Amino acid sequence: MSATLLDQALTRLDDAAQHLKLDPDVLEKLKYPRETTKTRLLIRMDDGSRKSFMAWRCRYDDTRGPTKGGIRFHPDATVDEVETLAFWMTFKCAVMNLPYGGGKGAVQVDPRKLSKAELERLSRAYMQAFSGIIGPDRDIPAPDVYTNAMIMGWMADEYASIVGRVSPAVITGKPIALGGSLGRDDATARGGFYLLRHLENELGVGPGSRVAIQGFGNAGSHMARLLAEIGYRIVAVSDSRHGVHSAAGIPFDRLIEAKRDAGLASLVGSDGVGALVPGDIVGVDCDVLVPAALENLIHADNAASVKAKVIVELANGPITPAADDLLSARGVTVLPDILANAGGVTVSYFEWVQNRQGYYWTVAEIHERLKASMEAEGRAILERASERKITMRSAAYVHALGRLAEAIEAHGTQQ
Ligand code: GLU
Repeated sequence: MSATLLDQALTRLDDAAQHLKLDPDVLEKLKYPRETTKTRLLIRMDDGSRKSFMAWRCRYDDTRGPTKGGIRFHPDATVDEVETLAFWMTFKCAVMNLPYGGGKGAVQVDPRKLSKAELERLSRAYMQAFSGIIGPDRDIPAPDVYTNAMIMGWMADEYASIVGRVSPAVITGKPIALGGSLGRDDATARGGFYLLRHLENELGVGPGSRVAIQGFGNAGSHMARLLAEIGYRIVAVSDSRHGVHSAAGIPFDRLIEAKRDAGLASLVGSDGVGALVPGDIVGVDCDVLVPAALENLIHADNAASVKAKVIVELANGPITPAADDLLSARGVTVLPDILANAGGVTVSYFEWVQNRQGYYWTVAEIHERLKASMEAEGRAILERASERKITMRSAAYVHALGRLAEAIEAHGTQQ
């Protein structure tokens, strides 16, 4: 049987464990998801028929606090993927020192095939099915691939009717009108952006460097904007259907208009823009490659084609462990997902804090706190990596595992 995604992810835990003196209890606790609930959501479609969709919520580990993580709507979602994403959330929250454990949810659905009313019924059904697990001190969802603020708003509303009181801290990434935080919309990209900027000297990149972005959803499109604004050159972009490239760079405004109106492919042919098979973006000639879509983009068979010297993982799990080894042997620096894309959950934490205190911060305050956290954790991980001569990924896992181990031990040893 081939290794599951979770088996692959756990190799990173084993690797980090070699660098720390750990009580065996710690690994035993972190090796398995604590609980995964599965259900079938039954939805009334607009044509009167009924359809059912598989759905999961995994609470991987809650040692450091309530479990935290997004809900993904995707036709290829599986339980293995949900548990792996929840494992990554556990480490991501520990990397950032957020008082959370890790969780994740998913519905196996292509939301692009649903009407808005069907999508709302599905989102409400999800909250009905999992409301016993979810809660502001237990498990706090957020957006992920193909879910957004509107869906979080419906879920928050459904939760409020189930428990009979307004409880905005139950879910993050909500619309501002329902207690969402300023700065949550571009937080994933902005966190990666602050991290990259902070490490530019060490990484040998900066304004003028060429960037390729795989995935042009929330994370990828905001990253393109932030980098273009300070003079990075966006030389290639792809989404799930199309890819475009131009050695001279493509202005951000043109990319975002094309994505909104006729699709990225509509840019091909004008101003030196060529077409790209989406998967070929991995091998595009660039300085910084930004995977911002799904898992396993870069694997043993295409890692050798990477030309970038820096990879910023805005996606979760875009590089397999085998590809990691090949990239590090070639001197490619990877800013790992559990650090590079942690801006999203960090601002989710800020949202939860604001909901609980009922006092809301300015966008400048959000940006300042996010920047300070990304820089502090990023710097600590870089130093750990250079001291021990290990990759940034290994260093990030060691950094997080130290915090998790401390919390596991502090909970006591007699149960
Ligand atoms: N889905 C995002 C992630 O993978 C955000 C999670 C959150 O804000 O809780 O990090």
